[in-house]
Amino acid sequence: MKKLLIVGNWKMAPNTAKEAVKIWKPIQKTAHNLKHVETVICPPAVYLAHLGTLVTDRNCVLGAQDVSADTDVPHTGEISAPMVFDARARYAIIGHSERRARGETDETVAAKLRTILSYPLSPIVCVGESVRDDSGAWVRELKKQVKTIVSGLTEVQLARVVIAYEPIWAIGSKAKRSATPSECRDAVGVIRQIVADILKSDTVAQSMTALYGGSVNPENAIEFLQDGGIQGFLVGRASLDAKAFVQILKVAETKAKKS
Ligand code: PEP
Repeated sequence: MKKLLIVGNWKMAPNTAKEAVKIWKPIQKTAHNLKHVETVICPPAVYLAHLGTLVTDRNCVLGAQDVSADTDVPHTGEISAPMVFDARARYAIIGHSERRARGETDETVAAKLRTILSYPLSPIVCVGESVRDDSGAWVRELKKQVKTIVSGLTEVQLARVVIAYEPIWAIGSKAKRSATPSECRDAVGVIRQIVADILKSDTVAQSMTALYGGSVNPENAIEFLQDGGIQGFLVGRASLDAKAFVQILKVAETKAKKS
């Protein structure tokens, strides 16, 4: 059985490398001993190279929060896929809603995905609707994102893609609530169906790793793992609290052991 994948997105925190190491260490200590969980920490890019020297095994690895679609061109301030790979990142988040809010389009995310797939990096592609309503508009929004981003990829390429379902309304401190496991399961079903339609085959669509992100914490994690149709999480706020994140890792390990 595939391991559960628990990803921490530290966003633009903490402020110093010293604090980053302080959060990383207890997480790595726990993650190192888990047999059924792979942990990925996505710190600000400036900390990747230093934290990279602390990586000891595949149980706890690093990811980038974003990469450029381009390589070897003069883009001031951008970071490329080969750079993050050289800094020991093995995953890269793309399409996060906080980047989309600053102008990133599905087409840009599609270009970034193709770039990442040409390096030994695993892409974590964020998708999710802005509002969950009863009219079905959320399904159309989600379908459009997924179609634009993954159309044209082969089965082999899609098998490397991790999809993170992150409903925008459930993310961050302004969110009124997380999604429910059943809302999550429905959305992940929509995503898998689009991939199946594109590939004209269900195999990869059903086996792709799907994550849920949006106000995940140690208390609600178990419900999503039981009923959300997902194989892990993309965690924002709770990933900067080492104690809370370690608890989420332990919940996942216990759940995986029982399955
Ligand atoms: C995120 O920003 O990807 C996220 C899931 O944030 P939070 O867990 O804080 O809602």
